[in-house]
Amino acid sequence: MKHTLPGWRTQFASDNTAGICPEALDALQAANEGWLASYGNDALTREVCDRLRELFETECDVYFVFNGTAANSLALATMCQSYHSVICTDAAHIETDECGAPEFFSNGTKLLTAPHSDGKLQPADVRLLATKRSDIHYPRPRAVSIAQTTETGTVYRPGEVAALSAVAREQGLRLHMDGARFANAVAALGLAPADVTWRAGVDVLCFGGTKMGLPVGEAVVFFDRGLSEEFAWRCKQAGQLASKMRFLSAPWLGMLRDDVWLRHAAHANRMAARLAEGLCALPGVSLISPCDANGVFVELPAPAVAALGDAGVVYYTFIGGGARFMCSWATSDAAVDELVALVAAALA
Ligand SMILES: *Cc1c(COP(=O)(O)O)cnc(C)c1O
Repeated sequence: MKHTLPGWRTQFASDNTAGICPEALDALQAANEGWLASYGNDALTREVCDRLRELFETECDVYFVFNGTAANSLALATMCQSYHSVICTDAAHIETDECGAPEFFSNGTKLLTAPHSDGKLQPADVRLLATKRSDIHYPRPRAVSIAQTTETGTVYRPGEVAALSAVAREQGLRLHMDGARFANAVAALGLAPADVTWRAGVDVLCFGGTKMGLPVGEAVVFFDRGLSEEFAWRCKQAGQLASKMRFLSAPWLGMLRDDVWLRHAAHANRMAARLAEGLCALPGVSLISPCDANGVFVELPAPAVAALGDAGVVYYTFIGGGARFMCSWATSDAAVDELVALVAAALA
């Protein structure tokens, strides 16, 4: 059916170019029944929060916001005063793709960046930035922020998260996890969500819903409940409190039932692995970052770039010849194989 619509062709630019997955859409439809309390005081929203507490095996506090930029910015603003700073990598979404929102919502908290290694922040760099200065003229480090999966498609092992959190604790810093693609990371690791978050020292997780197949929305999950004390006011002031909250929360029910979220994420990861394998078997194509989850980052020869452009394949290219292909719950084997065949023909 969707093939009769314009734009049916699989896009690889981002996982947010896919539609709503059927389970989330069913849950959304089911939520459109009758009258319910607004602003999150409804039974559906309470149920989703309970499901998330079960999933994380702990009494965390959960809030729903419209997008990842808001989730990250408001979570960081909760931990920081205006004269504080947040340590992250120079490739961090909060640094490069949020239009200064973390600084804006925290009234001036500065981001201190370290070079990344395959997308990952290194504990030694955290210590370096945290101890570099302690005088009154320098914004005082207060938090560490990492993305899981990272912006270059890699996945932190629980031990790597724990090592970062150990340095953070030692330096009196909180640990924030940007989980826009948390589902893909958990599916790749095959571990309990608790093991990659609070058991490894994460204080607050922004659990991405949009990229895993929801219509819209992310969950901000506070494992340190002391941090969330006034978060509701922060959300409201920022224009992030949905009045018809059930439509933001209920789709999560469809995802969290029977591990649907993990199955979709595992599928996306499998599609990326298939794509990486197919592309890297071709002459002149090589990975520029390990393919740990649902993103494929490759060096693509110019004839391949030209051929994909002519064919109308939508994906990201970077200055210097790099290309990014993201896979989602909706990416099919056939779409992946078609893409590989196009590149193969261009390089033959
Ligand atoms: C997509 C993404 C976000 C969320 O971005 P929004 O467009 O604001 O929803 C956050 N962090 C990372 C690493 C992302 O890839």
